Amino acid sequence: MERESLIVRSSEITLKGRNRGVFEKQLLRNVTAHLAPHGAFHIVRGNARLDISGEGDLTAAADILRGLPGVANVSRVRHVSRDLEPLTGAVLALVDATLAGAHANGRRAPSFRIEVDRKDKRYPLQSMELAATLGEAVLAAHPELHVDLSRPDFTAMVEIWPQEALLFPEKIPGPGGLAVGSSARTLCLLSGGIDSPLAAYLLMTRGSPVVFLNFHSFPFIGEQSKEKVHDLVRFLARFQPHSRLLVAPFAEIQQHIRDKCPEGLRTVLYRRMMNRVANVLAEREGALALITGESLGQVASQTMENLRAIHETATLPVLQPLIGLSKQEIVQRAQHIGTFPISIQPHPDCCTLFQPRFPETHAKPEQLARAEAALAVDALVAASVAGVEVTDYGPQYYPAGW
Ligand code: ATP
Ligand code: MG
Repeated sequence: MERESLIVRSSEITLKGRNRGVFEKQLLRNVTAHLAPHGAFHIVRGNARLDISGEGDLTAAADILRGLPGVANVSRVRHVSRDLEPLTGAVLALVDATLAGAHANGRRAPSFRIEVDRKDKRYPLQSMELAATLGEAVLAAHPELHVDLSRPDFTAMVEIWPQEALLFPEKIPGPGGLAVGSSARTLCLLSGGIDSPLAAYLLMTRGSPVVFLNFHSFPFIGEQSKEKVHDLVRFLARFQPHSRLLVAPFAEIQQHIRDKCPEGLRTVLYRRMMNRVANVLAEREGALALITGESLGQVASQTMENLRAIHETATLPVLQPLIGLSKQEIVQRAQHIGTFPISIQPHPDCCTLFQPRFPETHAKPEQLARAEAALAVDALVAASVAGVEVTDYGPQYYPAGW
């Protein structure tokens, strides 16, 4: 019986030796969670792969799955007979469908390749023999086509299993990396900018479930800035099964810094206070590290001296996955993952509030200690923590067709 399904191949998992089962189960849990709001799917775990079928929409499911950390690639496959005659017929049908699709899009697709992967080594034909036999059948039916092994216009991929053959036109690449949940939790300081959403994404692809923390200075900064951060988290929720956003009030802290501390130190002092609030919330959320979107030298607050001054107030390691990237590289990657259009909406971040005319680029520890002696640091941190708003997002927010 012919049926269709999605094959999700997992990445890196094969490298993990005895832990492999643990990683595969994590990917299975994530796939199950991400598909659950989108239809009734039947998921079967195989060797470094999942087979997904059911009544749900497979096109929409493929779209969701190709974004998930831990996914190497996704194929929409037809399960067909592995006997030569029906298999040849199925390959010809796939070629016809591909040519019709190319034609409808006004493209010509004159060259092709057949790729055979013999999962069952007892199959009577060698991979090369089977590929050649199927290729000849395609050429006989379509004399206008030719074989191109290195740069074909389209490919027909065949996997031979003991009971059946799988037939598919492509492997849609996923992000690779590790399934979220394979590593410990982290807390990302998320502004509405371009950098920090990418930083969070990179940690997710290393298996870390990320909790988001944004500082918001109502009423100095409008509600739209907060909405933008919610939009970002709702978007990032497509990459991990559970996304929590914490919004901490920051206006009082900024007013105190404005009124009591040297103007040039403001930005560094803001960021030091953010870390102190983050320390408490990370502990509460069970996070083992903080993440920021800093990139060395990108802005005045990101000189090596200032980064050191900012991060000495963090009790956990501060991960800065973008530290060596240029702005151009960051923009490209943010465009690729899809957060860029949200990030460039022109709503201000609280860091721009009361911005100094001449920001200090080489803040010294003793200067900062003196400045902070004028602040009721613990009380300000406690008040911000007490005012945190919590919102949880899940995979139901995934919009069709991104
Ligand atoms: P981004 O593009 O992430 O906004 P940026 O280039 O604007 O970064 P800064 O404003 O110096 O750089 O911020 C550095 C980092 O501090 C950010 O990447 C983010 O991790 C954190 N941060 C800044 N503002 C906030 C905020 N309002 N809430 C939470 N974290 C923030
Ligand atoms: Mg910013």
